[in-house]
Amino acid sequence: MDDLAARLAAVDARIVDAARAAGRDPSELTRIVVTKFHPAQLVASLYDLGVRDVGENRQQELSAKSVEVGPREGLTWHFIGQAQTNKARAVRAAASVVHSVDRARLADALDAAADDDSPMLDVLLQINLTDDPTRGGVAPGGIEALAEHVTGCRTLRLRGVMAVAPLDEPPAPAFERLAAYSERVRAVLPDASWISAGMTGDFVEAIACGATHLRIGSAITGPRPTRG
Ligand SMILES: *Cc1c(COP(=O)(O)O)cnc(C)c1O
Repeated sequence: MDDLAARLAAVDARIVDAARAAGRDPSELTRIVVTKFHPAQLVASLYDLGVRDVGENRQQELSAKSVEVGPREGLTWHFIGQAQTNKARAVRAAASVVHSVDRARLADALDAAADDDSPMLDVLLQINLTDDPTRGGVAPGGIEALAEHVTGCRTLRLRGVMAVAPLDEPPAPAFERLAAYSERVRAVLPDASWISAGMTGDFVEAIACGATHLRIGSAITGPRPTRG
């Protein structure tokens, strides 16, 4: 617990330094703590330390953990993983932001999963920064069409873009491409200004390239428990 507090404080200090070095206001950054594979108790401990944004990348884990943690004032669950269309209802029930919309069919499924009293769902377009179509994310050539499709979904609010840095190139040039893709999305919807980028190994570069939402796991939580 003390270690957790110390790691959180250390990461937050690095975020502030990186923002200032980039001439940015640290208060415009949202630090999401990625809690995947860790027990619900970790989310409760983080909450007690003031964390209000947590991220999960598997629907089943998101659903189970959000129920176990229970309602907490101001706590926002972010879904950052690949979503199957038949799990859209479960994702929507547990998360209020979905970072990983990469196809029109998924947007439609999330939209159709709204009940009459569902709040608007914030969504980001996940963009594939690699040439490998299996890596997840819409290919850059499809950005405008997907952005237009999402803006036509009645219960979805398009917020911006998300990406994971490629494994086989330095992160900075990839995040610069992402910033350009963000501008293309804003040409469709000017308010969609969020850029979700930056993990434990590359959040400093992401901040320098304009990231607004950082998804940081192990630097804060410690190593993830292995899982079969
Ligand atoms: C696990 C995960 C992260 C956090 O990874 P760390 O390297 O532990 O910070 C961020 N984004 C996504 C999509 C993830 O799956």
